[in-house]
Amino acid sequence: MGKDSQSKKAIIVGAGIAGLAAAVRLAVAGYRVEVYDQNEAPGGKLSQFSLGDYRFDFGPSLFTMPQYVDELFVLAGEDPRDHFNYQQLPIVCHYWWEDGTTLDAPAEIAQLADNCAAAFGVDRQKIIDFMAQAAKKYDSSGRIFLEKSLHKADTWLSWEVAKTMLKIPGLDLFKSMHAVHERDLGHPKLVQLFDRYATYNGSNPYKAPGLLSMIPHFEHHFGAYLPEGGMYDISRSVYELAKRLGVQFFLANKVAEITLEGERATGIRTSTGHHSSADLVVCNMDVFLAYDKLLPTARKPERTLRQQKSTSAVIFYWGIRADFAELGVHNILFSDDYQQEFNLMEAGDLSDDPTVYINVSSKLVKEDAPAGKENWFVMVNAPADAGQDWDTLKAQLRQQVIDKIDRILLKDRPESVADLIEEERILGPSDLEILTGSHQGALYGTSSNNPFSAFLRHPNFSKRINDLYFLGGSVHPGGGVPLCLLSARIVGDLIQKQQ
Ligand SMILES: Cc1cc2nc3c(=O)[nH]c(=O)nc-3n(C[C@H](O)[C@H](O)[C@H](O)COP(=O)(O)OP(=O)(O)OC[C@H]3O[C@@H](n4cnc5c(N)ncnc54)[C@H](O)[C@@H]3O)c2cc1C
Repeated sequence: MGKDSQSKKAIIVGAGIAGLAAAVRLAVAGYRVEVYDQNEAPGGKLSQFSLGDYRFDFGPSLFTMPQYVDELFVLAGEDPRDHFNYQQLPIVCHYWWEDGTTLDAPAEIAQLADNCAAAFGVDRQKIIDFMAQAAKKYDSSGRIFLEKSLHKADTWLSWEVAKTMLKIPGLDLFKSMHAVHERDLGHPKLVQLFDRYATYNGSNPYKAPGLLSMIPHFEHHFGAYLPEGGMYDISRSVYELAKRLGVQFFLANKVAEITLEGERATGIRTSTGHHSSADLVVCNMDVFLAYDKLLPTARKPERTLRQQKSTSAVIFYWGIRADFAELGVHNILFSDDYQQEFNLMEAGDLSDDPTVYINVSSKLVKEDAPAGKENWFVMVNAPADAGQDWDTLKAQLRQQVIDKIDRILLKDRPESVADLIEEERILGPSDLEILTGSHQGALYGTSSNNPFSAFLRHPNFSKRINDLYFLGGSVHPGGGVPLCLLSARIVGDLIQKQQ
């Protein structure tokens, strides 16, 4: 950082995980940092709440690339293990189909190949080769697309980028993920299983580029994890680290305006009229709403902001008064017609046979539910909010989800899962927009349904307003906790170069 950064002040709008990580990075670099969030607790989508005796993580349930959290502690001269701990999941996901087929997907690739061969009668080598291709895609393009600003000349002038460009024909950029999976895996259930990874960034496997078939590499090479106290441990530990570094938090403080002087960001004004000036402003709020609400007079990058949103979700948080030995931490009950599900979502609708995701953190975090009971986070992918009648859709979906769980998981039990729900909260896309400030309730900002999505996301800085930076799931490199952490790293590096 610059020599005079000791005296410089940064304001961060939003205490989502990217805002928290940036607060740590800037504090370590010597900035005086203020963070404002409209909510009473930090974390944004990565927060938590309780229903009766059950604890729930609000949003993310799958944790990959824990090293991006660890590096924040190391940067601050602390041992991450003194503050933040997690365990690796030996089985990354348990899968069920309506015809009785099941599969446990171990993290270890050779075991995954064995289980797929046994469940689907396919040649195990297909899975080994497919995962080797995923590794190649990540190694040859991941660092460029994810770890650097794609909007700075020096990124494009590097040798690393030149090498990636030469490899583009092998990256399946212009085939859909689904087409790549059909070509490389063949068996329809195996194709569906790997198509599912498009939902990790809220995309449609029938449209998203085949380059994204690298996503399983994150789980099966780097691993899937669960923090010791559940996902909220990530936000909590980074928030506490930031506080130890002297970052000042102003929670329950909604920012109403990013103040400008000519072509420079000069600070913020809160909804109660409090003004705070700064040398630079970092915006962790959804970029669409930031232009709309906080920068109403600034010229908007219209094309960038108009891009298709990622999917949203309907979530049922259920306290279940029973335990299900067959469930693990992550579980998927697949629909019979995956393509129809995505076609309907593109049209703004929901399938009446949805794929159902069930996350049970209490499998490992025993305090999350009373003994003999489980905290179920049940999620169905849904289109971003376009004014649908969500109350009706949520009620219909609740019954369809219950029916599906009864057919698949309770076929040998006398009761319905509905009889086991003792606590309940239901959220849909319009609720997510209100609670997390995410435009149209999108979980991951813009979708990756276009081969050029990586280049079309909003940059990590404003091209028109100096000293204004953007990070988090709605800008480059995209949504999901690991990418949000990378966005904070990119912004830290940009500030280091520019200030
Ligand atoms: C249901 C769900 C499931 C998900 N599952 C996963 C998963 O399994 N794995 C994964 O990696 N990712 C998952 N994600 C995505 C992940 O949660 C997000 O990409 C990530 O948490 C976004 O972080 P962020 O830093 O962009 O900020 P956000 O979490 O979006 O936080 C933005 C913050 O800005 C604040 N804010 C907004 N407007 C204002 C204002 N005017 N003034 C002050 N503060 C303001 C908000 O209150 C909020 O705290 C999921 C998301 C959801 C919702």
